[in-house]
Amino acid sequence: MNTSGFDPTKPNMIYLDNNATTAVAPEVFEAMRPFLTNQCGNPSSAHASGVDARRAIEHARLQVAEFLGASGRDEIVFTSCGSESDNWAIGGFLEQNPTRRHIITTRVEHEAVRNLCEHLSEIGCEVTWLEVNSLGELDSGELRKALRRDTGIVSVMMANNETGVLFPIEDIGHIVRENSDAIFHVDGVQAIGKIPIDLKALPVDLFSISGHKFYAPKGIGALYIRRGVTLPPFIIGGGQEDGRRSGTEAVPNIVALGRASELSNVFTGHDQIRGLRDRLEDEILARFSCARLNGTQDRGKRLPNTANISFDGFEGSEILMRLDGAGICVSTGSACNSGSEKVSAVLAAMKIPHAIARGSIRFSLGRYNTQDDIDQTLTALSKILS
Ligand code: PLP
Repeated sequence: MNTSGFDPTKPNMIYLDNNATTAVAPEVFEAMRPFLTNQCGNPSSAHASGVDARRAIEHARLQVAEFLGASGRDEIVFTSCGSESDNWAIGGFLEQNPTRRHIITTRVEHEAVRNLCEHLSEIGCEVTWLEVNSLGELDSGELRKALRRDTGIVSVMMANNETGVLFPIEDIGHIVRENSDAIFHVDGVQAIGKIPIDLKALPVDLFSISGHKFYAPKGIGALYIRRGVTLPPFIIGGGQEDGRRSGTEAVPNIVALGRASELSNVFTGHDQIRGLRDRLEDEILARFSCARLNGTQDRGKRLPNTANISFDGFEGSEILMRLDGAGICVSTGSACNSGSEKVSAVLAAMKIPHAIARGSIRFSLGRYNTQDDIDQTLTALSKILS
Protein backbone atom coordinates (compact mmCIF):
# COMPACT_ATOMS: atom_id res chain seq x y z
CA MET A 1 0.00 0.00 0.00
CA ASN A 2 1.28 3.45 -0.85
CA THR A 3 0.57 5.65 2.16
CA SER A 4 3.32 8.11 1.32
CA GLY A 5 0.93 10.61 -0.23
CA PHE A 6 2.99 11.08 -3.36
CA ASP A 7 2.57 9.46 -6.71
CA PRO A 8 5.31 9.82 -9.33
CA THR A 9 2.88 8.64 -12.00
CA LYS A 10 1.00 11.92 -11.49
CA PRO A 11 3.78 14.49 -11.13
CA ASN A 12 3.21 18.22 -11.33
CA MET A 13 5.74 18.48 -14.17
CA ILE A 14 6.95 16.56 -17.19
CA TYR A 15 10.15 14.99 -16.02
CA LEU A 16 12.55 14.07 -18.84
CA ASP A 17 15.76 14.26 -16.79
CA ASN A 18 16.01 10.72 -15.46
CA ASN A 19 19.75 10.44 -16.17
CA ALA A 20 20.28 13.26 -13.67
CA THR A 21 18.16 11.55 -11.05
CA THR A 22 14.91 9.61 -10.71
CA ALA A 23 11.91 9.96 -8.43
CA VAL A 24 11.89 7.58 -5.48
CA ALA A 25 9.46 4.79 -6.36
CA PRO A 26 6.52 4.64 -3.90
CA GLU A 27 7.33 0.97 -3.19
CA VAL A 28 10.89 1.99 -2.30
CA PHE A 29 9.67 4.76 -0.03
CA GLU A 30 7.37 2.31 1.76
CA ALA A 31 10.24 -0.14 2.26
CA MET A 32 12.47 2.49 3.87
CA ARG A 33 9.76 4.21 5.93
CA PRO A 34 9.95 1.93 9.03
CA PHE A 35 13.69 2.52 9.23
CA LEU A 36 13.13 6.27 9.16
CA THR A 37 10.61 6.05 11.98
CA ASN A 38 10.14 3.41 14.65
CA GLN A 39 12.81 0.88 13.60
CA CYS A 40 15.68 3.08 14.63
CA GLY A 41 18.21 0.50 15.79
CA ASN A 42 21.89 0.71 14.97
CA PRO A 43 22.83 -2.46 13.06
CA SER A 44 25.84 -2.89 15.34
CA SER A 45 23.64 -3.01 18.48
CA ALA A 46 22.96 -6.36 20.11
CA HIS A 47 19.30 -5.70 21.02
CA ALA A 48 16.31 -6.69 18.90
CA SER A 49 16.06 -3.35 17.09
CA GLY A 50 19.72 -3.55 16.11
CA VAL A 51 19.36 -7.15 14.99
CA ASP A 52 16.36 -6.18 12.82
CA ALA A 53 18.39 -3.43 11.18
CA ARG A 54 21.31 -5.82 10.55
CA ARG A 55 18.91 -8.34 9.01
CA ALA A 56 17.40 -5.65 6.77
CA ILE A 57 20.86 -4.64 5.53
CA GLU A 58 21.82 -8.21 4.72
CA HIS A 59 18.53 -8.75 2.91
CA ALA A 60 19.18 -5.61 0.85
CA ARG A 61 22.69 -6.81 0.05
CA LEU A 62 21.24 -10.03 -1.30
CA GLN A 63 18.69 -8.11 -3.40
CA VAL A 64 21.46 -5.97 -4.93
CA ALA A 65 23.69 -9.03 -5.50
CA GLU A 66 20.88 -10.86 -7.28
CA PHE A 67 20.05 -7.85 -9.40
CA LEU A 68 23.65 -7.44 -10.55
CA GLY A 69 24.23 -11.15 -11.04
CA ALA A 70 26.99 -11.19 -8.41
CA SER A 71 28.24 -14.54 -7.16
CA GLY A 72 27.30 -13.66 -3.60
CA ARG A 73 26.48 -10.84 -1.26
CA ASP A 74 30.08 -10.66 -0.05
CA GLU A 75 30.78 -8.96 -3.40
CA ILE A 76 28.55 -5.96 -2.58
CA VAL A 77 29.71 -3.06 -0.39
CA PHE A 78 27.37 -0.14 0.26
CA THR A 79 28.70 3.37 -0.34
CA SER A 80 27.13 6.82 -0.31
CA CYS A 81 26.95 7.40 -4.09
CA GLY A 82 28.32 6.52 -7.50
CA SER A 83 31.13 9.04 -7.17
CA GLU A 84 32.33 7.40 -3.97
CA SER A 85 32.27 3.97 -5.60
CA ASP A 86 34.31 5.28 -8.55
CA ASN A 87 36.81 7.04 -6.27
CA TRP A 88 37.25 4.02 -4.06
CA ALA A 89 37.71 1.62 -6.97
CA ILE A 90 40.41 3.63 -8.72
CA GLY A 91 42.02 5.41 -5.77
CA GLY A 92 41.95 2.28 -3.62
CA PHE A 93 43.62 0.13 -6.23
CA LEU A 94 46.42 2.67 -6.70
CA GLU A 95 46.95 3.02 -2.97
CA GLN A 96 47.40 -0.72 -2.73
CA ASN A 97 49.57 -1.07 -5.84
CA PRO A 98 51.89 1.95 -5.84
CA THR A 99 54.15 0.54 -8.54
CA ARG A 100 51.37 0.07 -11.07
CA ARG A 101 50.56 3.71 -11.72
CA HIS A 102 49.46 3.54 -15.32
CA ILE A 103 45.70 4.07 -15.69
CA ILE A 104 43.64 3.72 -18.86
CA THR A 105 40.29 5.48 -19.12
CA THR A 106 38.24 7.36 -21.70
CA ARG A 107 37.75 11.03 -22.52
CA VAL A 108 34.00 10.76 -21.92
CA GLU A 109 33.80 9.39 -18.39
CA HIS A 110 31.67 11.11 -15.78
CA GLU A 111 33.57 13.72 -13.73
CA ALA A 112 33.80 11.24 -10.84
CA VAL A 113 36.30 9.27 -12.94
CA ARG A 114 37.58 11.97 -15.29
CA ASN A 115 38.46 14.55 -12.65
CA LEU A 116 39.88 11.90 -10.34
CA CYS A 117 42.17 10.63 -13.10
CA GLU A 118 43.22 14.20 -13.91
CA HIS A 119 44.07 14.68 -10.24
CA LEU A 120 45.98 11.38 -10.16
CA SER A 121 47.98 12.41 -13.21
CA GLU A 122 49.03 15.56 -11.32
CA ILE A 123 50.35 13.50 -8.43
CA GLY A 124 52.49 11.08 -10.36
CA CYS A 125 50.23 8.60 -12.14
CA GLU A 126 50.28 8.24 -15.90
CA VAL A 127 46.90 8.28 -17.60
CA THR A 128 46.11 7.13 -21.13
CA TRP A 129 42.89 8.75 -22.35
CA LEU A 130 41.09 6.67 -24.96
CA GLU A 131 39.39 8.79 -27.61
CA VAL A 132 35.88 8.30 -29.01
CA ASN A 133 34.76 8.94 -32.59
CA SER A 134 32.19 11.52 -33.68
CA LEU A 135 29.38 9.09 -32.79
CA GLY A 136 30.71 8.69 -29.26
CA GLU A 137 31.98 5.15 -29.90
CA LEU A 138 35.14 3.64 -28.49
CA ASP A 139 37.68 1.71 -30.55
CA SER A 140 38.65 -1.35 -28.50
CA GLY A 141 41.78 -1.73 -30.66
CA GLU A 142 43.13 1.47 -29.12
CA LEU A 143 42.79 -0.09 -25.70
CA ARG A 144 44.78 -3.14 -26.78
CA LYS A 145 47.59 -0.83 -27.93
CA ALA A 146 47.49 1.20 -24.71
CA LEU A 147 47.84 -1.73 -22.29
CA ARG A 148 51.28 -2.01 -20.69
CA ARG A 149 53.08 -4.17 -18.16
CA ASP A 150 52.62 -1.49 -15.49
CA THR A 151 48.96 -0.78 -16.28
CA GLY A 152 47.21 -1.10 -12.93
CA ILE A 153 43.62 -0.28 -13.70
CA VAL A 154 41.37 0.23 -16.70
CA SER A 155 38.21 2.23 -16.00
CA VAL A 156 35.50 2.45 -18.65
CA MET A 157 31.84 3.40 -18.23
CA MET A 158 29.11 1.06 -19.40
CA ALA A 159 26.77 3.78 -20.68
CA ASN A 160 27.47 7.44 -21.25
CA ASN A 161 25.36 9.74 -19.09
CA GLU A 162 25.03 12.44 -21.77
CA THR A 163 24.56 10.55 -25.03
CA GLY A 164 23.49 7.13 -23.74
CA VAL A 165 26.13 5.50 -25.97
CA LEU A 166 27.01 2.00 -24.70
CA PHE A 167 30.57 0.75 -24.59
CA PRO A 168 31.33 -2.94 -25.39
CA ILE A 169 32.20 -3.86 -21.83
CA GLU A 170 32.40 -7.59 -22.46
CA ASP A 171 34.92 -7.17 -25.33
CA ILE A 172 36.89 -4.60 -23.37
CA GLY A 173 37.04 -6.88 -20.33
CA HIS A 174 38.36 -9.76 -22.43
CA ILE A 175 41.02 -7.55 -23.99
CA VAL A 176 42.13 -6.41 -20.52
CA ARG A 177 42.23 -9.98 -19.16
CA GLU A 178 44.01 -11.47 -22.15
CA ASN A 179 46.63 -8.75 -22.54
CA SER A 180 47.45 -7.57 -19.03
CA ASP A 181 47.24 -8.08 -15.28
CA ALA A 182 45.23 -4.89 -14.90
CA ILE A 183 42.05 -4.66 -12.86
CA PHE A 184 38.93 -3.69 -14.83
CA HIS A 185 36.60 -1.13 -13.24
CA VAL A 186 33.28 -0.28 -14.85
CA ASP A 187 31.19 2.77 -13.98
CA GLY A 188 27.75 1.21 -14.32
CA VAL A 189 25.87 4.16 -12.82
CA GLN A 190 23.85 5.02 -15.93
CA ALA A 191 23.38 1.45 -17.13
CA ILE A 192 21.84 0.08 -13.98
CA GLY A 193 18.08 -0.35 -14.21
CA LYS A 194 18.07 0.55 -17.91
CA ILE A 195 19.70 -2.49 -19.51
CA PRO A 196 20.20 -6.04 -18.19
CA ILE A 197 23.41 -6.62 -16.26
CA ASP A 198 24.85 -10.00 -15.30
CA LEU A 199 28.22 -9.59 -13.66
CA LYS A 200 28.76 -13.35 -13.45
CA ALA A 201 28.96 -13.36 -17.24
CA LEU A 202 31.10 -10.24 -17.58
CA PRO A 203 34.89 -10.02 -17.16
CA VAL A 204 34.58 -7.10 -14.75
CA ASP A 205 36.39 -6.77 -11.39
CA LEU A 206 34.81 -3.64 -9.92
CA PHE A 207 31.41 -2.14 -10.79
CA SER A 208 29.96 1.14 -9.46
CA ILE A 209 26.25 1.82 -9.03
CA SER A 210 24.18 4.65 -7.58
CA GLY A 211 20.67 4.36 -6.14
CA HIS A 212 19.23 7.68 -7.28
CA LYS A 213 19.55 6.69 -10.94
CA PHE A 214 17.08 3.83 -10.51
CA TYR A 215 14.32 4.99 -8.17
CA ALA A 216 16.10 4.83 -4.78
CA PRO A 217 16.97 8.06 -2.95
CA LYS A 218 20.11 10.13 -3.28
CA GLY A 219 22.89 9.25 -0.86
CA ILE A 220 23.27 5.54 -1.48
CA GLY A 221 25.41 3.55 -3.88
CA ALA A 222 27.38 0.35 -3.96
CA LEU A 223 30.63 -1.03 -5.25
CA TYR A 224 30.72 -4.59 -6.57
CA ILE A 225 34.11 -6.11 -5.75
CA ARG A 226 34.65 -9.46 -7.44
CA ARG A 227 35.72 -12.25 -5.07
CA GLY A 228 39.50 -12.44 -5.01
CA VAL A 229 39.93 -8.71 -5.68
CA THR A 230 40.92 -6.65 -2.65
CA LEU A 231 40.82 -2.93 -1.98
CA PRO A 232 42.01 -1.07 1.10
CA PRO A 233 39.16 0.22 3.29
CA PHE A 234 37.56 3.41 2.01
CA ILE A 235 36.74 4.62 5.53
CA ILE A 236 38.59 3.33 8.58
CA GLY A 237 36.61 3.17 11.78
CA GLY A 238 34.28 0.74 13.50
CA GLY A 239 34.74 -2.01 10.90
CA GLN A 240 31.32 -1.92 9.28
CA GLU A 241 30.84 -3.46 5.84
CA ASP A 242 33.29 -6.21 6.77
CA GLY A 243 35.96 -3.64 7.57
CA ARG A 244 35.83 -2.28 4.04
CA ARG A 245 33.81 0.90 4.61
CA SER A 246 33.30 1.95 8.20
CA GLY A 247 30.64 4.30 9.50
CA THR A 248 27.19 3.44 10.83
CA GLU A 249 25.23 2.11 7.90
CA ALA A 250 22.52 4.29 6.31
CA VAL A 251 19.89 1.64 7.02
CA PRO A 252 16.87 3.34 5.31
CA ASN A 253 18.90 4.09 2.20
CA ILE A 254 20.37 0.61 2.04
CA VAL A 255 16.91 -0.93 2.38
CA ALA A 256 15.78 1.41 -0.40
CA LEU A 257 18.62 0.31 -2.68
CA GLY A 258 17.68 -3.31 -2.08
CA ARG A 259 14.01 -2.74 -2.84
CA ALA A 260 14.83 -0.64 -5.94
CA SER A 261 17.04 -3.50 -7.16
CA GLU A 262 14.28 -6.02 -6.61
CA LEU A 263 11.76 -3.81 -8.45
CA SER A 264 14.16 -3.26 -11.35
CA ASN A 265 14.74 -6.99 -11.58
CA VAL A 266 11.06 -7.60 -12.36
CA PHE A 267 10.35 -4.35 -14.24
CA THR A 268 8.64 -5.05 -17.54
CA GLY A 269 8.20 -1.54 -18.96
CA HIS A 270 11.51 -1.20 -20.84
CA ASP A 271 9.84 -1.48 -24.25
CA GLN A 272 7.43 1.27 -23.34
CA ILE A 273 10.26 3.63 -22.35
CA ARG A 274 12.14 2.75 -25.53
CA GLY A 275 9.00 3.37 -27.62
CA LEU A 276 8.46 6.80 -26.07
CA ARG A 277 12.10 7.77 -26.55
CA ASP A 278 12.07 6.56 -30.16
CA ARG A 279 8.95 8.57 -30.89
CA LEU A 280 10.31 11.72 -29.25
CA GLU A 281 13.59 11.41 -31.13
CA ASP A 282 11.99 10.58 -34.50
CA GLU A 283 9.51 13.43 -34.25
CA ILE A 284 12.10 16.01 -33.23
CA LEU A 285 14.44 15.02 -36.04
CA ALA A 286 11.58 15.02 -38.56
CA ARG A 287 9.89 18.24 -37.48
CA PHE A 288 12.82 20.55 -36.82
CA SER A 289 15.40 20.96 -39.55
CA CYS A 290 17.89 22.43 -37.04
CA ALA A 291 17.88 19.22 -34.96
CA ARG A 292 20.70 16.69 -35.10
CA LEU A 293 21.30 13.65 -32.98
CA ASN A 294 24.45 13.43 -30.86
CA GLY A 295 25.72 9.86 -30.53
CA THR A 296 25.32 6.80 -32.68
CA GLN A 297 22.11 6.44 -34.69
CA ASP A 298 22.24 2.70 -34.00
CA ARG A 299 19.73 2.51 -31.19
CA GLY A 300 20.97 -0.94 -30.21
CA LYS A 301 24.17 0.76 -29.11
CA ARG A 302 22.49 3.40 -26.95
CA LEU A 303 20.53 3.34 -23.71
CA PRO A 304 16.83 2.90 -24.49
CA ASN A 305 15.82 6.04 -22.56
CA THR A 306 18.25 8.72 -23.79
CA ALA A 307 18.19 11.13 -26.73
CA ASN A 308 20.81 13.87 -26.94
CA ILE A 309 19.86 16.35 -29.65
CA SER A 310 21.48 19.60 -30.75
CA PHE A 311 19.38 22.43 -32.08
CA ASP A 312 21.70 24.25 -34.47
CA GLY A 313 21.58 28.01 -34.03
CA PHE A 314 20.04 27.82 -30.55
CA GLU A 315 21.54 27.89 -27.05
CA GLY A 316 20.78 24.73 -25.07
CA SER A 317 20.49 26.78 -21.90
CA GLU A 318 17.84 28.98 -23.51
CA ILE A 319 15.79 25.99 -24.67
CA LEU A 320 16.16 24.45 -21.21
CA MET A 321 14.85 27.58 -19.50
CA ARG A 322 11.90 27.89 -21.89
CA LEU A 323 11.00 24.21 -21.49
CA ASP A 324 11.29 24.65 -17.74
CA GLY A 325 8.84 27.54 -18.02
CA ALA A 326 6.45 25.10 -19.69
CA GLY A 327 6.91 22.65 -16.79
CA ILE A 328 9.24 20.32 -18.69
CA CYS A 329 12.55 19.24 -17.13
CA VAL A 330 15.50 18.36 -19.39
CA SER A 331 19.20 19.09 -19.20
CA THR A 332 22.03 20.43 -21.30
CA GLY A 333 24.95 18.03 -21.14
CA SER A 334 25.28 16.29 -17.80
CA ALA A 335 23.42 17.51 -14.75
CA CYS A 336 26.70 18.37 -13.10
CA ASN A 337 27.45 20.76 -15.99
CA SER A 338 24.21 22.69 -15.83
CA GLY A 339 24.66 26.32 -14.96
CA SER A 340 28.18 26.35 -16.33
CA GLU A 341 28.99 28.04 -19.64
CA LYS A 342 31.45 25.35 -20.70
CA VAL A 343 30.31 23.04 -23.47
CA SER A 344 30.08 19.45 -22.46
CA ALA A 345 33.42 17.61 -22.35
CA VAL A 346 31.67 14.59 -23.84
CA LEU A 347 30.47 16.46 -26.93
CA ALA A 348 33.87 18.16 -27.19
CA ALA A 349 35.56 14.75 -27.15
CA MET A 350 33.23 13.69 -29.97
CA LYS A 351 34.48 16.78 -31.86
CA ILE A 352 30.97 18.14 -32.23
CA PRO A 353 31.51 21.73 -33.43
CA HIS A 354 31.27 24.16 -30.55
CA ALA A 355 28.33 26.07 -32.06
CA ILE A 356 26.29 22.88 -32.36
CA ALA A 357 27.35 21.44 -29.00
CA ARG A 358 26.05 24.60 -27.32
CA GLY A 359 22.57 23.86 -28.60
CA SER A 360 22.41 20.37 -27.12
CA ILE A 361 19.59 19.07 -24.98
CA ARG A 362 19.50 15.71 -23.24
CA PHE A 363 16.08 14.10 -22.96
CA SER A 364 16.20 11.12 -20.58
CA LEU A 365 12.99 9.21 -20.00
CA GLY A 366 11.91 7.00 -17.14
CA ARG A 367 9.33 4.67 -15.76
CA TYR A 368 6.67 7.27 -15.15
CA ASN A 369 6.61 9.01 -18.54
CA THR A 370 3.56 8.81 -20.81
CA GLN A 371 2.63 9.48 -24.45
CA ASP A 372 1.08 12.71 -23.27
CA ASP A 373 4.46 13.87 -21.91
CA ILE A 374 5.97 13.36 -25.36
CA ASP A 375 3.11 15.20 -27.11
CA GLN A 376 3.37 18.14 -24.75
CA THR A 377 7.15 18.31 -25.13
CA LEU A 378 6.87 18.34 -28.93
CA THR A 379 4.27 21.10 -28.78
CA ALA A 380 6.42 23.17 -26.43
CA LEU A 381 9.49 22.68 -28.61
CA SER A 382 7.54 23.83 -31.70
CA LYS A 383 6.70 27.08 -29.95
CA ILE A 384 10.25 27.62 -28.68
CA LEU A 385 12.00 26.83 -31.95
CA SER A 386 9.67 28.86 -34.10
N1 PLP B 1 28.93 8.00 -13.09
C1 PLP B 1 28.02 8.33 -14.02
C2 PLP B 1 28.11 7.72 -15.37
C3 PLP B 1 27.02 9.25 -13.71
O1 PLP B 1 26.13 9.59 -14.64
C4 PLP B 1 27.00 9.82 -12.41
C5 PLP B 1 25.98 10.83 -12.06
O2 PLP B 1 25.40 11.48 -12.91
C6 PLP B 1 27.96 9.41 -11.48
C7 PLP B 1 28.91 8.50 -11.86
C8 PLP B 1 27.97 9.95 -10.10
O3 PLP B 1 26.94 9.36 -9.33
P1 PLP B 1 26.46 10.06 -7.97
O4 PLP B 1 25.63 11.23 -8.37
O5 PLP B 1 25.66 9.01 -7.28
O6 PLP B 1 27.66 10.43 -7.23
